[in-house]
This record gives sequence, structure tokens and C-alpha cells, in this order.
Amino acid sequence: MRILSSSNQIFVISAPSGAGKTSLVDALLNKDTNIVGCTSHTTRPIREGEIDGENYHFVNESEFVNLIKNNYFVEHANVFGYRYGTSELELENTLNAGLDVILEIDWQGAEQVRKVYDNCSSIFILPPSLSELEERLRSRGKDTPEVIKARSQEAVKEIKQCDNFDYVIVNDDFDKALRELVTIINSARLETGKQLLKLAPLIKNLVRDA
Ligand code: 5GP
Repeated sequence: MRILSSSNQIFVISAPSGAGKTSLVDALLNKDTNIVGCTSHTTRPIREGEIDGENYHFVNESEFVNLIKNNYFVEHANVFGYRYGTSELELENTLNAGLDVILEIDWQGAEQVRKVYDNCSSIFILPPSLSELEERLRSRGKDTPEVIKARSQEAVKEIKQCDNFDYVIVNDDFDKALRELVTIINSARLETGKQLLKLAPLIKNLVRDA
């Protein structure tokens, strides 16, 4: 377990595909400038409208394997037959710059990050129903019917992991789910351990004459 001396926090957010995780995170990042995402590496083919280096760093299998060999990733996993991983350097540079980080990763990655960092809160997003999940996957029009079928089946496996997370949000009403996400993030920032690091000078001053 790596205990960071910084008061900055890692938030891990996972959800089955189509639960609305990316839209929630995008809305959060627009509202809150003290938290940023990390650009993962993946071997998945680039989708229409995606930008290399922005949505993901798109790499081939041998490049990914080389990065693993060089201990480049703080976590990595195989999701839907493709590899995904988070750069340890990017994550730590962001924390050291005084920002919080939100990682949009699957449950396997969440498990790995939890084991490495003590300053990590994990959030799971549930869809209101499986039929709504499938409908969202269809209507976003990014995937073929075969991929949508595979992703719906995977969703159940992923949902079974929700009890390992610190917080669970149901994304039925987007604005409500966003408010709940903001509440989780703000309350995690106020935990005593983090506040003691941040407020050490104030507390020292307050108890000086006691
Ligand atoms: P998509 O290909 O639809 O963008 O993402 C597929 C899944 O991979 C999502 O559940 C997403 O959260 C997960 N994912 C994206 N980046 C990473 C990563 O760096 N590590 C892990 N473990 N999962 C990731």
C-alpha cells in the first residue's frame, strides 16, 4: 500500500457500459476544476469521433505488452477482448500538481488501484434497469448489434462487483446522479485525515496558546 503524503484524492468510477459513466464524469469535470481525468492506453480500435491522445492513447498489442514490461501501468485489464491501462506517471504527476484524479476504469482496474493507494474512493454507477442499459447502448449508435449483445451480457458480471465499491449511484435521473457524485467527491475531500494534512498550519495556530 502506497500512502501519499499529499491530501489529494483518487476517485475510481466504474459502471457497466451504457450506465452513463462518461457523461457523468464529463459533467463533473466541467463543474469542478480541482479534479481531472487520466487518458488511458488501449488496444481497442479507435471509434469514429474519437481523438488519439484525448479519448485514449491508442496502441497496438506489442506496444501495450512493452508498456506492461516497463511497469508503465498502475493497473491494467482486459475488457471486452481489448487491453486498457492507466499510466502511473500521469496519475502521480496530476496528484503532485495538487489536483484530484478521477479514473474511469473497469472493476478489475478498480481492485488493483485500491490495493496500491490508500487515498482512493471508489464509486459504482448502476443503470435503472437492464432494458434501459441496452436501449442506451443501441441509441448511442457506437457499437454493432453483436458488440451491444456482448456488452449487455458483460454488464451483469460487472454489476455483481458493485458491493466492493465505497459508493453506489443509480443513474436514473442524470441531474440527481450528478448531484450525488459531486456530494461524494466533496465529502471525501473533507475526511479528517485529508483535512489534517491540508489544515496543519491552521490547526497549529488555533491550538498554539492552549
Ligand atoms: P470503452 O472501450 O467503451 O471506452 O471502455 C470499455 C471499458 O473499459 C469501460 O468499462 C471503461 O471503464 C474501461 N476502461 C477504460 N479505460 C480503462 C483503464 O485504463 N483501465 C481499465 N481497467 N479499464 C478501463
